[in-house]
Amino acid sequence: MSLLSVVVPCYNEKEVIPIFFDAMKPVIDDFASKYPDVGFEFIFVDDGSSDGTVDVIKNLRSEDKRVHFISFSRNFGKEAALFAGMKKAAGDYVVCMDADLQDPPELLIGMFSAVHDEDYDSSATRRVSRKGEPRLRSMFARAFYKIINRISDVEFVDGARDYRIMTRKMTDAVLTLGENNRFTKGIYSWVGFRTKWIEYENVERAAGETKWSFFGLLRYSFEAILGFSTAPLTYVISFGFIVTALAFVLILFVVIKTLIYGDPTSGWPSMICIVVFFAGTQLLCTGIVGEYLGKTYLETKNRPIFITREEE
Ligand code: UDP
Ligand code: MG
Repeated sequence: MSLLSVVVPCYNEKEVIPIFFDAMKPVIDDFASKYPDVGFEFIFVDDGSSDGTVDVIKNLRSEDKRVHFISFSRNFGKEAALFAGMKKAAGDYVVCMDADLQDPPELLIGMFSAVHDEDYDSSATRRVSRKGEPRLRSMFARAFYKIINRISDVEFVDGARDYRIMTRKMTDAVLTLGENNRFTKGIYSWVGFRTKWIEYENVERAAGETKWSFFGLLRYSFEAILGFSTAPLTYVISFGFIVTALAFVLILFVVIKTLIYGDPTSGWPSMICIVVFFAGTQLLCTGIVGEYLGKTYLETKNRPIFITREEE
């Protein structure tokens, strides 16, 4: 027997949870015929909902003992919910799915076959379209992926969902990254392993509303950049260099001008030179300090130095 844990983060999803659970039933039947030795467990993570989501989950649990849940003391965000769910999951395989059916359950069996029958450690999904999403949001999302891929060492796949199945080994690796500012998509690619990508067309929410505001997403993307790149600190140094160089040119100009035309407002040229020069060098020095701070910052995250996939 092996166990498949389904982790479902839920924030104010009372309408959609029963629909989700019903939609999973045919999938479970499918598994029963194709993989009769695979059992299911559901870990619903109630992320501090205020609409009675937890009661809906408890209801499910009273009917079906495969349902487990964690309920947060307040809203900690989806990333925290995913972490808690993975931590509680006991399965040999763990899959993360949104409650709103935007992660099509019918893909699950194919994803499972990648980690069970093929030599993959994980199978993940990406949307090839952003149909039904606001234009502005798609535009910013595209720009974000361009920027982050340029400045970060790990790869961020455009359109990648959190809908992903992982082996126990990979799940444990993800759990060793105990950082607080979590950007799970980056963490998945940071831990490495072999991932099979499955593509599908965007699906709209079954019921309820999206929990993401535009500014929420913007903040989330800053989290990704700060968490997976120290490029901004490096840019500050370049900027400092440019300002310092410009200051030298300006100083030269002011000095020559003063020598030729005299100094009608006494003290002004020297003052401007000093102000400009120190502005540049200060920025430069701050940048260098920032560089060290950035390194320390990454260290305090206590990430493992490497992770072994196989060993003999
Ligand atoms: N979610 C959560 N905590 C939050 C926000 C969202 O657990 O603070 C869950 C939500 O219940 C859903 C999933 O994360 O199951 C994805 O959220 P949503 O559908 O609002 O995001 P979108 O699909 O619009 O990106
Ligand atoms: Mg959604």
